[in-house]
Amino acid sequence: MRDSDLFTLALGLAHPWFVENCSFDPKAKQLDIFIDFEKGGEFSCPVCGKGGCKAYDSENKTWRHLNFFEHMTYLHGRTPRVNCPDCGVKTVSVPWARSGSGFTLLFEGFVMALAKEMPVNAIARILNEHDTRVWRILNHYVDQARAQQDYSEVCKIGMDETSSKKGHHYISLFVDMARSKALFATEGKDAETVRAFCRDLEAHHGNPEQIQEACCDMSPAFIGGIGENLKNASITFDKFHVMKIINKAVDEVRREEQKSRPELVKTRFVWLKNPENLTEKQRTALETLTLPNRRLKTARAFNIRLTFQELFDQPVELAEGFLRKWYFWATHSRLEPIIRAAKTVKNHWDGILRWFESRITNGVLEGINSLIQAAKAKARGYRSTKNLITMVYLVAGKLDFHPLTHTK
Ligand SMILES: [Zn+2]
Repeated sequence: MRDSDLFTLALGLAHPWFVENCSFDPKAKQLDIFIDFEKGGEFSCPVCGKGGCKAYDSENKTWRHLNFFEHMTYLHGRTPRVNCPDCGVKTVSVPWARSGSGFTLLFEGFVMALAKEMPVNAIARILNEHDTRVWRILNHYVDQARAQQDYSEVCKIGMDETSSKKGHHYISLFVDMARSKALFATEGKDAETVRAFCRDLEAHHGNPEQIQEACCDMSPAFIGGIGENLKNASITFDKFHVMKIINKAVDEVRREEQKSRPELVKTRFVWLKNPENLTEKQRTALETLTLPNRRLKTARAFNIRLTFQELFDQPVELAEGFLRKWYFWATHSRLEPIIRAAKTVKNHWDGILRWFESRITNGVLEGINSLIQAAKAKARGYRSTKNLITMVYLVAGKLDFHPLTHTK
């Protein structure tokens, strides 16, 4: 068997395609395989699929293929154009690559498999490719897989933001709470963001009017966007974000008080963690600092925080009464930051209590958030927000990939 026949078989080429010859340069560590088609070979029109079209002319192209051992391998070949009676002159789709790509399908499949395991810059290094070319492959398959997604069942969503590029930009992320997957990510966080999500939802057979529950933080951008675009959705303010506001108030009280009470210095995390999560040392500090004879404002603020947390353990029929009592206590605490936080709670009253109906847990959002952190790590040096978003879909979108399926 000639080596070119061997490569014809190994590449899975079928009539009229064959390997004409190959050249191997051990110094350059490169293998070049030259593919051709038989004279008079017939092809299908890439647009309408009509068979039996003869080559009209052809164009020389090169594709990077999987390495042959440690040697970079390139396929070179004439790509025929056919003159279809119905569609005119069209470039034929070759069976080993998708149109417009400088890589074979097998090479791209390999890149997609690597992308599950390692950062993009590592893939680029291993394959000796520029990372922008690797990103182009990822962007293509993620876009293609997303185009197949069906969002017709989506009725409970969550939205959150994450920063990109050293915190200068934000991307907003929309999640299907029932299926724990990222549905849509886009740059920015404003009223337009929710509208963009709705358009994307509709493009995937979803219906904004079908969204019954939406979980978000207390930002006017999300609240306003939901009010305008998701008319049937009740808002649940995410427990995690509500707690963040109260925690911040506790910390403000502590920072003010430590000016006159030096024993509070370096106790920040003692007050922010839940008692059961404290280290032995922190627990001892907390026990000492909360002794009644100390009369610390921070200890009072801390108790108000712990009590607020108990809201979420109340039976639904007692929840609002509990929150009302808490509000009275907090607003009469004479602790400015706590009073301000309590007023924020008052302004978002229904959305906080909505949790008792919707039971949307922040667990899903937190889970997705840790995937996003993983996506950021894998996308390190990602050059554009589009690339970061692609990685978010890749890691958290639960997409189906068919990189070896031939595409036009
Ligand atoms: Zn045609």
